[in-house]
Amino acid sequence: MKVGFIGLGNMGAPMAANLAKAGHTVTGFDVAGATAEGVQIADSAAAAATGADIVITMLPNGAILRDVADQIIPAMSPGAVFLDCSTVDVDSARAVAEQAQAAGLSALDAPVSGGVGGAAGGTLTFMVGGDEAGFAKAAPLFEVMGQKAVHCGPSGNGQAAKICNNMILGVTMIATCEAFALADKLGLDRQAMFDVVSTSSGYSWSMNAYCPAPGVGPKSPADNGYQPGFAAELMLKDLGLAQQAAEAADADTPMGARALALYKRFVEDEDGRGKDFSAMLPRFEKRGHD
Ligand code: NAD
Repeated sequence: MKVGFIGLGNMGAPMAANLAKAGHTVTGFDVAGATAEGVQIADSAAAAATGADIVITMLPNGAILRDVADQIIPAMSPGAVFLDCSTVDVDSARAVAEQAQAAGLSALDAPVSGGVGGAAGGTLTFMVGGDEAGFAKAAPLFEVMGQKAVHCGPSGNGQAAKICNNMILGVTMIATCEAFALADKLGLDRQAMFDVVSTSSGYSWSMNAYCPAPGVGPKSPADNGYQPGFAAELMLKDLGLAQQAAEAADADTPMGARALALYKRFVEDEDGRGKDFSAMLPRFEKRGHD
């Protein structure tokens, strides 16, 4: 397929390179002049999108996505697919999809989980909103870039799935970290804590697959000085999108709101920036009862 790829950052560059390696013709563009292996670089977003069967965007936020959509939608051929893989607010995803559909394009919002490692290894999970026909056309590309693509319903539902998942993740990571810090103060050995909780009703992905305690459970960023992994500021972004959506939809999400406040403080006022989001454990370790 002829693929346009806009946004060749930490995630976009390896995703585009994997598509090129699989034999697709990939033309890319990034405002910062970034490149990717096997990808031909165009001199504008519109030029990268011209004549493409599918244009993929992997951008920082909804405002930038809307701006790029204004540039590339007029350049795309009717019947082509606009596939946004960025994590953005549900409203921007739906607005861009509407604009694309009005121009005769298929539109998909397909945020990912799996991080930079998943992007490089082609093992991302895609959560996809949009029409069935577009999903079918994009399926071979999802197969190259990831291991799983779940069609979640109409436009915006991919973003909805992503922020709901990450709201659960932020809340359970905080709960797991504060419980470890409490266990320390009660004299409970961390290995014993892991052995019990990981096989009891407190288990979760945060405990079982990404244990925030160094030397305990499977290998995780905790074993690497809390180098990300999934950076605390990315978790902060996703929790902010979840609260923005909750407000717009009039949903009551008190734990999501508390998680947002804690990660905001951790990243902006404490030493969380640049650390993995599981570094909440050393944060709680240092603190007393609030
Ligand atoms: P990044 O900042 O490394 O990459 C974004 C790229 O977009 C940059 O290279 C930037 O120059 C480019 N860009 C910005 N404005 C542009 C424009 N107008 N035209 C063309 N290019 C433009 O970010 P990333 O880590 O690659 O993340 C991309 C998206 O994926 C974000 O929405 C992020 O939330 C999401 N995401 C990231 C991760 C992760 O672990 N990094 C995991 C899941 C989802």
